[in-house]
Amino acid sequence: MKTVKSSFKFRGGVHPDYNKELARGKAIEKMPVPAELVVSMSQHLGAPAKCMVKPGDFVARGQVIGEKNGFISVCVRAPADGKVKAIEKRLGPAGGMADAVILDTTAKPDGEAATAAPILPPLDWRAASREELLKRVEDAGICGMGGAGFPTAVKLNPPPGKRCEYLILNGAECEPYLCADHQVMVERADRIRLGVDIMRKVLGQPAVRIAVEANKPDAVAALEKAFADIEGNVEIVVLPVMYPQGSEKHQIFATVGRVVPEPPALPIDVGCVVENVGTVAAIADAVELGEPLLSRVTTVSGDAVVEPKNILAPCGTKYADLVAFCGGEKVPPAKVISGGTMMGFAVSTLEIATTRTTSGLLLLSSKRVFQYASGACINCGRCLRACPMRLNPAFISKVVDANDVKAAEDAHVMDCIECGACSFGCPAYRTITQSCRRAKASIRARIAAEKAKAAAAAGK
Ligand code: SF4
Ligand code: SF4
Repeated sequence: MKTVKSSFKFRGGVHPDYNKELARGKAIEKMPVPAELVVSMSQHLGAPAKCMVKPGDFVARGQVIGEKNGFISVCVRAPADGKVKAIEKRLGPAGGMADAVILDTTAKPDGEAATAAPILPPLDWRAASREELLKRVEDAGICGMGGAGFPTAVKLNPPPGKRCEYLILNGAECEPYLCADHQVMVERADRIRLGVDIMRKVLGQPAVRIAVEANKPDAVAALEKAFADIEGNVEIVVLPVMYPQGSEKHQIFATVGRVVPEPPALPIDVGCVVENVGTVAAIADAVELGEPLLSRVTTVSGDAVVEPKNILAPCGTKYADLVAFCGGEKVPPAKVISGGTMMGFAVSTLEIATTRTTSGLLLLSSKRVFQYASGACINCGRCLRACPMRLNPAFISKVVDANDVKAAEDAHVMDCIECGACSFGCPAYRTITQSCRRAKASIRARIAAEKAKAAAAAGK
């Protein structure tokens, strides 16, 4: 095992104010289970889980309360003992509505109504078969914790004809303010090491690249210690500090110099599987300890919160409870962001609850929030230089403003990774990223409608 500097630098990218000092180095604090949890059935990419409980049911910690509902889907387990108060549509961290189980954790299972202990039996990963390990990852409800939420068992099982040559661990965490992955690498490097051993067995012993930005030297040191005796082609790759270094495609280029072609191509098409460091640690816990993915580390930060922290909280914890655990609001926040400042979503209520992909919650005062009005493009070209996908964001935003989605599609808007680098430096404060999101949503809706029409026609 060796530590190297990245030899590949992608074009574009920006240097936002990172503001990581607020939560950097703060030890992970385990939060007590709140009195009420809001457990979404849609905590992952793909079909929402099918709710398996009804109001009045008692559930035990770890019990499946939402069944995997399709190939690209993941089960949902109860993060704590409790009584189902209601099943309701609730707003999620990214703005969508989904069914959620509202759990009263002060009401405990009683006698006959209690479910048998649901936590999975520990597995000896060396003796277990590849299929058993994949099944464990699936049963533990593990999905990518870096943001996308892709079902991990699907990712670890490449389709016939595809082979994983490189397992890449994403420890870049390039989003401003967020320190959750950083702290997981510092405190849980041994779990990440075990997760890598398990994943290598499942994937057929690929080479390993662990990508960490240069502003996390303590994480690099912890990983070097944990991986010191690992055998085979394993490297920690120290990346330059640059946003969006954590983007999957850019990380593949930065670590192994391979370029993922246009969608629908995936990392596995260039022999790579990329997984977030927190997910890798979750795999170790699921296999060795039989602990499903019921909680995660979330950074709560910003200048409007009393004490920024890295918190291990049950998935389903309301933002209001996270903020209370940080001592409350220092000043009324002018903006609340679910996630980081570059790719996160502004939210209007603290009643939203965390999911398996909630990496951060930011409360920013009016001093940190810039009020602006969008103006006309002055053709400065700054967004073109910033775009890591080599798109023409200025053109795309203009045609989307003119409702010409076809022109945006022709300009490859579907390649946009919604990183926000274009909007970040725009002197006219144009909301370019939102335009890209709008165009992509409209194109996806059109494609889905065309498919449904074709399917209906074929059924006649
Ligand atoms: S156009 Fe998309 S990929 Fe390019 S900088 Fe803007 S948000 Fe990022
Ligand atoms: S950065 Fe803004 S003003 Fe400059 S070209 Fe892009 S959209 Fe136009």
